[in-house]
Amino acid sequence: MNGNDSEHIAGILLSCGAIPSVSPEESDLVVINTCAVREKSEEKLYSLLGRLNSIQKKSEKKFTVGVVGCVAQLQRAKLLEKMPQIDFILGPDNYSQIPEILSKHLEEKVISTKWRKDWQEIPSEQTLRTSKVSAFVTIMEGCNNFCTYCIVPYTRGREKCRPTPQILDEVRDLAQKNYKEIQLLGQNVNSYVDPETQMGFVDLLRKVNTIEGIDWIRFITSHPKIFSPDIATAMKESERVCHQLHLPVQSGSTSVLHRMNRGYTREEYRQIIKNLRSLMPDISLSTDIIVGYPGESNKEFQETMSLLEEIQYTNIFSFRYSPRPLTKAENFKDDVPFVVKKERLIAVQDLQKNIQIKTNQSLVGSTIKVLCTGRSKKDPNIFSGRNAGYQVINFSAKKDVKDQFVNVLITSCGPYSLRGHTL
Ligand code: SAM
Ligand code: SF4
Repeated sequence: MNGNDSEHIAGILLSCGAIPSVSPEESDLVVINTCAVREKSEEKLYSLLGRLNSIQKKSEKKFTVGVVGCVAQLQRAKLLEKMPQIDFILGPDNYSQIPEILSKHLEEKVISTKWRKDWQEIPSEQTLRTSKVSAFVTIMEGCNNFCTYCIVPYTRGREKCRPTPQILDEVRDLAQKNYKEIQLLGQNVNSYVDPETQMGFVDLLRKVNTIEGIDWIRFITSHPKIFSPDIATAMKESERVCHQLHLPVQSGSTSVLHRMNRGYTREEYRQIIKNLRSLMPDISLSTDIIVGYPGESNKEFQETMSLLEEIQYTNIFSFRYSPRPLTKAENFKDDVPFVVKKERLIAVQDLQKNIQIKTNQSLVGSTIKVLCTGRSKKDPNIFSGRNAGYQVINFSAKKDVKDQFVNVLITSCGPYSLRGHTL
């Protein structure tokens, strides 16, 4: 979501006549898009602002600094008290004010963090897409779930869904521009409801699937609480939808899930996976895991380990619990010692590493369809891309295949990527 927002912000800046630069020293304007999900991401903002400050002092170059996104929304004026060099602060619903702010030559500092109730359309042509073949298409924003650990409902506000016609227009436009892959994007895509017609996510997915020219459709993120079996059926029946799903479980323990206010049990989650696998035996699954949530006992943690062992995800994103302001869990005792959180994170990552080595090795010797999206700067014969299962593939090719589909023979692998060459 943040990556997609940065593409929008860059597009808005271009439309104001800005030209991209490669370093702050060469810039007149620096806009920092921020994430507040974990404390560490917030700290990164403060260290970057510190670095920018010393560049300004050293080079005697004054550039305008804007802080936008979730930390801006969360800290508002407090950010300015801490870092007075900031010129403007905009929340995730206020990016469209950038042209107006810049046109006023920043005579005074601006703080704008008001949420909008309705969907606000950012024109597709005002997006500076980083890829020529793979694009994000936002379908909803915000969250109503209030998981006890999560700051998102307080930084992005309540759910707002984008009208279906706008989504379909954008996908058609991308298809015409030769985009091959789209990712429908939202904090909880499966709670999508068209604001006019009340049409839900399943029908939206089926409609997007009819658009000629797009080969791969993905969607992220789905919430297990409302992952109905008809989504799995629509995935199976829609030939363009990849057999790949990111379905954050957070914990394998029903009691921890309850304390997290996730709205499903370990058993219900297992049933969703069972149904997905029975319909699509080749489905590639990934998840998010939080370790060291308040009160997480060793027994509860072992339930997460056993779930990972059972499900055999293709990939996971794992985090140490980080208390966040405004959340319910901030008032819970953060009683899992830091060293234990660290040990548990290592245990999860080691287990998953071994699972990935095994699953990746099973692909060695096979030929896979890959959408190539990158070319190595060091060696122009080396490319990278992803397969339908969203695994990273690094491969060699004798000609430039960037932004194309290619067949890659997998010759070796590591835990986090596959390697090979084109045929
Ligand atoms: N909407 C998605 C969902 O329901 O799973 C996730 C969005 S959240 C921005 C991305 C991930 O960050 C979460 O799935 C969770 O694993 C992690 N996360 C969120 N808050 C966290 C916290 N306080 N400490 C550690 N990890 C956290
Ligand atoms: Fe955060 Fe939960 Fe909403 Fe996901 S569903 S964004 S984890 S509150």
